[in-house]
Amino acid sequence: MAPVAPVRVANVNKDKCVGCGACMKACTRNAVTVWMGKFSAVNEAACIGCGRCTRVCPRGCIQLKEVK
Ligand code: SF4
Ligand code: SF4
Repeated sequence: MAPVAPVRVANVNKDKCVGCGACMKACTRNAVTVWMGKFSAVNEAACIGCGRCTRVCPRGCIQLKEVK
């Protein structure tokens, strides 16, 4: 049986996030929520790992991580 490809989801470095909301606007899955204009959080169940949010973040604080 072929190995299953790893699933990737977005992961936010909350210490660097300034809550600008760019990631939330870029996400076509509504998987990112910005809390109180301070930091964002990703709903991993909704994220499809497309990487759009990683490209728009002005602080470079979103990266894709592999989940098992
Ligand atoms: S990787 Fe894609 S689906 Fe996941 S949070 Fe970022 S923009 Fe949304
Ligand atoms: S785009 Fe980056 S800095 Fe802006 S809210 Fe999202 S994670 Fe934070």
